[in-house]
Amino acid sequence: MSSITSTLAAAVVAAPIAATQPFVLPEMPYAYDALEPHIDAKTMEIHHTRHHKAYVDNANAALEAQGVTGKTLGQILAEVSKYGAAVRNNGGGHYNHSLFWNLMAPAGKGGEPSKELLAAIDRDLGGLDAFKKAFADAAVKRFGSGWAWLIVTADKKLAVVSTPNQDNPLMDIAEVKGTPILALDVWEHAYYLKFQNKRGDYIQTWWNVVNWNEVNRLFGEAIK
Ligand code: MN
Repeated sequence: MSSITSTLAAAVVAAPIAATQPFVLPEMPYAYDALEPHIDAKTMEIHHTRHHKAYVDNANAALEAQGVTGKTLGQILAEVSKYGAAVRNNGGGHYNHSLFWNLMAPAGKGGEPSKELLAAIDRDLGGLDAFKKAFADAAVKRFGSGWAWLIVTADKKLAVVSTPNQDNPLMDIAEVKGTPILALDVWEHAYYLKFQNKRGDYIQTWWNVVNWNEVNRLFGEAIK
């Protein structure tokens, strides 16, 4: 196995919350055109090299300005209210996108929800179809910019939530807290080039590139 392949494999399994300061833009786990025709290459390239990179750079700068060093991303998110808007927005943006890239895979390569995950979806969310509808509703009804999430709560139950801007359910300021196992970016920068104002079409298309193998893995970790 080449060293590049090893590095990429390691990047895929590394938990974004374990990253320590200063934060770095992660390698993508696939090529920018790998999600075509569902998510276009130009959107993926701009999203990663400009938007995500800006969150990383701005988070590092805001933390440095406050003299914050030696913390993990997870620690910072758990006490994000201490650090002000720049860290909340950019530290959140870095975590959210690091997770998001790994939660997508080329169509046909992402596997299926595991038996264990399906059982939890049946128990807590009324079945796979009801879950997908609730998740799409959370995504389409988020006013302005934000994210839809499938999380595991402290009592090990599944819940569908949404957050504004670059907030996430790991933050101390989150309305509903939990461990994210699936995430969908509904900022216009995630879909506007291909879908323009049709956020609902983007969401329906996005199901084709969900990396269920990674969702299954994160679910297993979260219920331990
Ligand atoms: Mn984004």
